[in-house]
Formats: sequence, C-alpha cells, structure tokens
Amino acid sequence: MRFRLFLILLFISIAPTAVLKYGILRNYETQSVDQRVSLIRSRAQMITPLLEETEYLKGKQSEDIDTQLLQLADLWNGRVVVINRNFRILRDTFSLDEGKVIIAEEVLRSFGGEPTSNYNRGARFLEVTVPVHPTGEETAVDGLLIISVPTDEIVEGKGKLSQAVLVLQGILILFSALAAFYASRILVRPFSKVTASFEEKGGFLEEDISMPDYTETETLAAAYNRMRQRLNAQEESRQEFVSNVSHELKTPLASMKVLADSLLAQEEVPNELYRDFMNDITEEVDRETKIINDLLSLVKMDRTAADLHIQETNINDLIELILKRLRPIAAKQNIDLEQESSRTVIAQIDQTKMTLAITNLVENAIKYNKPDGWVRVSLNMDNSFFFLKVEDSGMGIPEDAQQFIFERFYRVDKSHSREIGGTGLGLAITKQAILMHHGAIRVYSREGEGTTFTVRVPLRYIPEE
Ligand code: ADP
Repeated sequence: MRFRLFLILLFISIAPTAVLKYGILRNYETQSVDQRVSLIRSRAQMITPLLEETEYLKGKQSEDIDTQLLQLADLWNGRVVVINRNFRILRDTFSLDEGKVIIAEEVLRSFGGEPTSNYNRGARFLEVTVPVHPTGEETAVDGLLIISVPTDEIVEGKGKLSQAVLVLQGILILFSALAAFYASRILVRPFSKVTASFEEKGGFLEEDISMPDYTETETLAAAYNRMRQRLNAQEESRQEFVSNVSHELKTPLASMKVLADSLLAQEEVPNELYRDFMNDITEEVDRETKIINDLLSLVKMDRTAADLHIQETNINDLIELILKRLRPIAAKQNIDLEQESSRTVIAQIDQTKMTLAITNLVENAIKYNKPDGWVRVSLNMDNSFFFLKVEDSGMGIPEDAQQFIFERFYRVDKSHSREIGGTGLGLAITKQAILMHHGAIRVYSREGEGTTFTVRVPLRYIPEE
C-alpha cells in the first residue's frame, strides 16, 4: 500500500511538469516563429515600394534593388525570390530558378491580397510571402516577395530551453519523490502501528489499541479491540478448562492413592476392610472413566458441523428409547417417568448427539429429584421446529446459579453432584449438541419446586454456508 501510495503521489506531482514542459516549449517555438515572421515582413516592406517605383516588376533592372534583395536574404542566411504578376520568377538570390514560373497555393493566396507564412518544423525552414501593392493601393497585388529562411536558431534555442526545463524537471521530480516518500510514510504509519499491535506475542492480547488518525484506522482499532476481548475470553476459558480438567482428573487418582496407601501401610489387613477399600477404589476408577468419557463427548461436540451425521429421525421413538434406558435408575428412587406427545415428530438430526443431549437432561431431572418425585418429558412441534420440555419435581436451581449451569465443570453443589456421580460436563455437552443443530436451550427453575428445560430444534437441518 505504501509503495502504491508513493507511486500515485509521485505521478500526481510529475504529470503536470511534463505537460508544463511541453507547453513551455511549444509556446516558445510559436512566439519565436511569429516574431521572426513579423521581422521579415517589416524588413521586406521596406523594399516593396521601391520595386513598384523602379518598375522592377515590369522587367527593369536595378542594381540597387538587387543589392538590397541580397542584403535582405543575407540577414537570415535565407533566400529571396521575386515574382511578377504572371508568376514568373524575376529574381532569385540563389540564382537557381530565375525565369521559371511557380504556381503554389501560398503564391495564389498571396496574390489574392493575403500575406502567408509557413513554418516547416521538420525541414527547419520558414517561408514568408510579402505582396507588392501598386502605389496608393492596398488590395491589388503586382508581384510577390517570397522569403525563405532557415530556422536552425529557433530549433537550437528550443533545444537549450528544453535542457534547462529538463534540469528543472529533474529537480522537481527529485523533490516530488522525496515528498511522496515521506507523505506515503506518514499516511501509512497508523497501519504499521496496527500491524505491530497484531504481532504481539503470548496467549492474552494485553492492550486495547487506539488510532484516531483516520476514520478507517479508528474502525480498524475498534474491530481489533472487539476481537481482542473475544480472543481473551476464549483464552481465559481455555486456560480455566485445562486447569479444571487436570483438577478433576487428579481428584479420583488422589483418592485411589490414599486408599491404596492406607492398605499398604497395614500389615495384616482384614479381608472385609480390604474389600471395602477395593470397592471404593473401583468407584473412583468408574468416576475417572466417566469424566474421561464426558470429556471425549465434549471434544467431539467442539468439532465442526462436518462431524454431524444427519438423519431423518422419529423423535418420539428416540425419546421412548432414552426413557426406557433410564427407567431402572428412576425406579431406584421411585421416580415416575412420563412421556407426553400429541403428534409424531420427524426431524433431521444427528441421532447419537441428540440422544446424548436428551439423556443428560432426563438424567439430571432424575438425579436432582426428590424421592417419589416425577419427571415429565413432552414433545411438540410447529412448521419449522420441534420443542422438547423436560420438567421435574426436584430441588430446583438457585436463580443466581442458572446462568452458569451450562458451563463446563460447573456444579451448584459440588459435593452433592459428586456423590451422585456428576462431572459438571453434562449440560455443557447438551448445549453444544443443541447448538450444532442450530437449536436453543433455556432453563426455568424455582428452588425447592423443580426445574424445566426447554429445547427448540429446527426440523430441517440447514448446513452452514
Ligand atoms: P453434573 O454432571 O454435575 O450433573 P451438569 O452439567 O449436568 O453436571 O449440571 C450442572 C449442574 O446444574 C449440576 O451440578 C446441578 O447442580 C445443576 N442441575 C442440572 N440439572 C438440574 C436439575 N434438573 N435440577 C436441579 N439442578 C440441576
């Protein structure tokens, strides 16, 4: 951009000098020629009355006039030709064409009373015709003087002027180049500042940038600052996730180590205690496995839409199957699992991911319920969406916790969740799966009364562009 700007500025400043140079030289040339023509004409007009007086045009010889004609020719190293009314050449200072007749356009025009001048740039000569009028008359023409002079001087003068202008032009170009160079540098400087900011290293982008130099850079800075906040939030959540993951994975391992160590520390371990501890260790292994499985599910959900296997699916059947699998767990707490649906819903979904999402919701509704409670799963639809509602008669979620429950590893009551085998990843997985289907999920809950999750998913899957 800077180089382009430099070229543009340079061109803008140089182009007029070229036009100016052409104009100056042209003007010089025309003026010089005009001057020369009027000079020749005025000198010739000093002789023309004599030609009339001495009847030179009628054929009379006059040495005096011959000399004057020669002088006239010598004045510019040129040639003077005298023609009478019959277009015959009476006198030629080069003595080449005397006696000949010339009929040329200029000659005819001049006999019509119109003096002509003709500058031939290529051949470098100037030809001027001067009519000879009879005494006292202005319009009649008795004869003609044709004066041709070389214009080498004019061409030389033009050459010299051209050189001078060229030097001037060179200086101007040099100045313009310098000015363009600095101007382009100054104009582009704010952009270099942005680049420098963009190249900041490290996980977090430290500072907002401000560049009020131009509107464009201001917009750019604002966009950068928004991006910075987004990236920082992502980086923060990534770091938090990593530290959470290691913490969560370490906890069961630490418990196992304590259990194993205490067994090893005792010489004679009673068989019962041994079994007891081994039981606890197995539980911890199960827990570790569950966390790892949940993490894997979450990682799968984090991938792009390309990983979705979309199929036309009967959602009623899908829910029935999920409830069938969960019924034994519900039965343990004597919880009633109900399914409600007024019509058959067919939608394009990824069965595995949607099953996981719904299972997590229903599982939570059972886990965080009261003994003898109930869970109701209802399905509905309109033209474009199906709506799933999972209601329970459980403990509810405190209002201030509701905004966090979809976050990874968030649990309202850590120890309770741990007791019942929660990892804090279930709702994160659910939300991700729903989002992959371009759906939405909401929670409504009242502490001590129960919780309702509502899910809205498009019936037809629309792949992203
Ligand atoms: P967990 O594996 O701990 O169940 P989730 O991500 O599934 O993790 O849920 C996060 C937290 O939200 C849970 O620990 C629990 O405190 C709360 N929660 C989720 N569903 C319900 C529900 N139906 N009733 C009450 N609390 C719930």
